[in-house]
Amino acid sequence: MNILVINAGSSSLKYQLIDMANESVIAKGLCERIAIEGSRLVHKAKGETFTFEKDMPNHTVAIKMVLDALVDKKCGVIKDMSEISAVGHRVVHGAEDYSSSVLIDEKVLESCRVNSELAPLHNPANIMGIKACMEVMPNTPMVAVFDTAFHATMPEKAFLYGMSYDDYKNYRIRKYGFHGTSHMFVSQEAAKFLGKDIADTKIITCHLGNGSSITAVKGGKSVDTTMGFTPLDGLPMGTRSGSIDPAIVEYWMQKTGKSVADAMKHLNKECGMLGLSGNSSDFRDLCDGNALDNPRNKMAVDIFAYAVKRYIGSYTAVLNGVDAIVFTAGVGENTEYVRQQACSELDYLGIKLDENLNNNCPRGQIADIATADSKVRILVIPTNEELVIARETKALANL
Ligand code: ADP
Repeated sequence: MNILVINAGSSSLKYQLIDMANESVIAKGLCERIAIEGSRLVHKAKGETFTFEKDMPNHTVAIKMVLDALVDKKCGVIKDMSEISAVGHRVVHGAEDYSSSVLIDEKVLESCRVNSELAPLHNPANIMGIKACMEVMPNTPMVAVFDTAFHATMPEKAFLYGMSYDDYKNYRIRKYGFHGTSHMFVSQEAAKFLGKDIADTKIITCHLGNGSSITAVKGGKSVDTTMGFTPLDGLPMGTRSGSIDPAIVEYWMQKTGKSVADAMKHLNKECGMLGLSGNSSDFRDLCDGNALDNPRNKMAVDIFAYAVKRYIGSYTAVLNGVDAIVFTAGVGENTEYVRQQACSELDYLGIKLDENLNNNCPRGQIADIATADSKVRILVIPTNEELVIARETKALANL
């Protein structure tokens, strides 16, 4: 049985077709520049990469191209649409409406629409992906898997800001948290690796990628996380500032004469590693080879790693101890320097990184990079958000 996983952005659409018999990816790909000139589909199947350059004026056309590629004589992997049992969609914001995944119907679509005001950059694109699939595959069950759902277990003391309670009640201003599927997946993998019942574990999961967040997971449940009302909060990221003093926004606008929209664009797109280094938002450009010899690159990455370390300390307090720290996603899985800096001088907390294991960490598999005498295990675990979405979809579609 095959499940199609869709992650739709405003101008892009990523997909994977997963054979649930052995949870293997039989095809995957990316539609780029949807509704922009020069759109193309890059489709990977049968060990080959196929590129189709064709106009994609909207998401429906993009989905049709994906389905055509999946059944194509040359690059296809299935005979027809009946071989796709269900479709799982990533939806960024479920607000307080959804604490778990859900089968999609008109009511669910409507609440995703209402929640677009909380995630204007993401939910509208996710909805476009869902509607496009519904149009092309009207009889196939669809499931929404929310980035926010895993964090629904956070207690009030963690999710409320020190603002007026009316702001929460009237405008739904609170911490929601994101990357939930990833934090859930790697915390479960960590418990398995430790040979422990997840109910008895305290784990800090560091999802460090282009966007980054850290979560305190107690007994398999999220109890605090660094992203907030939006994914702009918490750690500095590839191009996002992370948490700043909120009064800076007004001051910056006065100094530059720019608008609120300019300020939000600046904080989302021009800050973080890009703004600090003046060079790149990509950690490979900042860390690989001798890139760290450039003082601005090193300063940017050190600021990032220091913020990771601060949250590790903070969440160790929140959890009253920690069994394992997990590093995952592009940077967490691949950037030794960040892991080494983030775990440095934490031996007081029983956290000791083995430099040799860290520097020779195998790619694509779980590794323990703590010293033998470290009280806390330090794990590198590849994340797999698509697999989580496929599993949730299979369960909800009753397949
Ligand atoms: P996102 O899904 O948020 O776009 P990723 O989890 O793919 O992000 O992480 C992207 C980041 O990971 C980039 O900054 C990239 O430089 C960094 N990275 C470092 N090494 C690698 C690598 N070997 N492969 C992929 N990404 C890497």
